[in-house]
Amino acid sequence: MSSRRHHDVVIVGGGNAGLSLAGRLRRDGAKDVVVVEPARVHHYRPMLSYVAGGQATLDQLRRPQDRVTPSGVRWYVDEVVSVDPATSTVHLAGGDEIEYGDLAVCPGSQVDWDAIPGSEAAVQTPHAATSYLPGSAVDTWTMLSTLTSGRAVFVISNRHVPCAPVGLKPMFLALDHWRRTGVRDAIDVELLVEGDRLVDLDRADQRLRAEAAEQGVSVTFGATVTSVDAASRRLAVDVAGAGSASSELTYDALYLAPPHRAPAWVAGSGLASEGDGGFLRVDPSTLQHPEHPRVWGLGDVADLDALPSGGALRKQVPVVARNIAARRTGAPMRTYDGYSIAPVTTSRRSLLLAEFDRDGRPEPSVPVVDLVRPRLLTWAFDRYVEPQVYFRRLLQGKVS
Ligand SMILES: Cc1cc2nc3c(=O)[nH]c(=O)nc-3n(C[C@H](O)[C@H](O)[C@H](O)COP(=O)(O)OP(=O)(O)OC[C@H]3O[C@@H](n4cnc5c(N)ncnc54)[C@H](O)[C@@H]3O)c2cc1C
Repeated sequence: MSSRRHHDVVIVGGGNAGLSLAGRLRRDGAKDVVVVEPARVHHYRPMLSYVAGGQATLDQLRRPQDRVTPSGVRWYVDEVVSVDPATSTVHLAGGDEIEYGDLAVCPGSQVDWDAIPGSEAAVQTPHAATSYLPGSAVDTWTMLSTLTSGRAVFVISNRHVPCAPVGLKPMFLALDHWRRTGVRDAIDVELLVEGDRLVDLDRADQRLRAEAAEQGVSVTFGATVTSVDAASRRLAVDVAGAGSASSELTYDALYLAPPHRAPAWVAGSGLASEGDGGFLRVDPSTLQHPEHPRVWGLGDVADLDALPSGGALRKQVPVVARNIAARRTGAPMRTYDGYSIAPVTTSRRSLLLAEFDRDGRPEPSVPVVDLVRPRLLTWAFDRYVEPQVYFRRLLQGKVS
C-alpha cells in the first residue's frame, strides 16, 4: 500500500552530492534529513578513470550504500519519478509520496547515447569503450592494453561530460603502457576534442597540449563525432570551420567521453532550464531554483555554467546547506563561484591538477605548490589518498 509522509529536507540521489549534503546538514544540526536512492552499491566515480587506465579495479571504488550513508540520515531505497513543486511533493517509483520542507535535487547525469547515433552499439563491441560506465571502464583497459598496432581514437565531448578533462587519463595511461611494451610506434593516436580547449585553465591547457604533442598525439579541436558505425569501425566527424563536409575516420580502438543529459523527469517536472539536455534550472550562484524557492540543485544534474566535478561539490555542498537555513531565517545567502577541478594523469606516475572558477581564473587550494606541473605526489594523492578522503570525510559532510 502506498503512503504519504513528510520530511524536513528530502535529497534526491545518494551519490557524491546527496550524501555529502546529507552529512553536512546533519553536522549542522538538521534533524529530519532523508535521501532517496535506488542503488544499493555506491560508486566512487573518479576512480573509474583508473580502472580504464589499468590502475584500479571496480571493487576498489564500490561500497555498500548503507555503509556510506551518514548516520542519522534515513535512506529510502526507491527512485524518484517526478516532483510536483506546487504541492512540494516527490513521487517515488514504488508509489509512495514524500512532502518536503526543502528539496535538494542531485540525481547526477546520464550518458546520452542518442546524441551520437551508433555509439551505444559500438561500446558493445571489443573495439570501443568508455570510462563513464563501470563495466565499460573495465573494457576500456582490456581494449587499450591489448592493442599492438593500428589507430586509437579518443573522443572528448563538451556536452555536460562530468569532469570532462579526466577523459584524457585513459589516453595518457595507455600511451605510457604502449611505450613500455614497445608498440607505441605502431599505433596512431588521434584525439578529437569537441570544445576548443582541453581544460578551462590557460596554463593547464597549454601544459596538456604540450604533453600531447610531445607524446605524438594528433589533436583536433572543434571536432564533433556525429555517428559511429561499429560494423565498419568508422566515425563521422564534423570539424568546426571545415565547411559542412563531414570527414570519416576508421579506428581499431575507440574511447568515448560521451555527451551526457539529465534524467528526463527533471524536465517532466517543469524544473529544467531551456538549454540542451534537460538540466536542472538553478541560480548558478545561490543554487536555488528561481521559480521554486524550496528546490535546490547541485552536482552533475544542475545547470551551473561550470564544469561538473566531485571537486566542485566541496564548494557547492556548504552553499546549499547554508542557504536552506538562510531561506528559513532570512539570513544572507552564500554563493558559489563556479569552482571546479580537473586532475589529469600525464603518465602512469604523474598528474596535473587544475583548479579554476567559472571564468577560468585559477583558484588553487594549495597556493604554495604549483599543482599544474605534473607530479608524482599529486598522482599518488589522487589515486590513493583521495578515495579515502572521499569515503571517510566528504560523504560524511566534512567539506570546507
Ligand atoms: C569516469 C568519471 C571520472 C570522474 N573523475 C573525476 C575526478 O577525477 N575528479 C572529480 O572531481 N570528479 C570526477 N568525476 C565527476 C564526479 O564523479 C561527479 O561530478 C560526481 O559524482 C557528481 O555527483 P552527483 O551526486 O551529482 O552524481 P552521482 O555521483 O552520479 O550520483 C547521483 C546519484 O543519484 C542516483 N539517482 C539517479 N536517478 C535517481 C532517481 N530518479 N531517484 C533517486 N536517485 C537517483 C544515482 O543512483 C546516483 O547514486 C568523474 C566522473 C566520472 C563518471
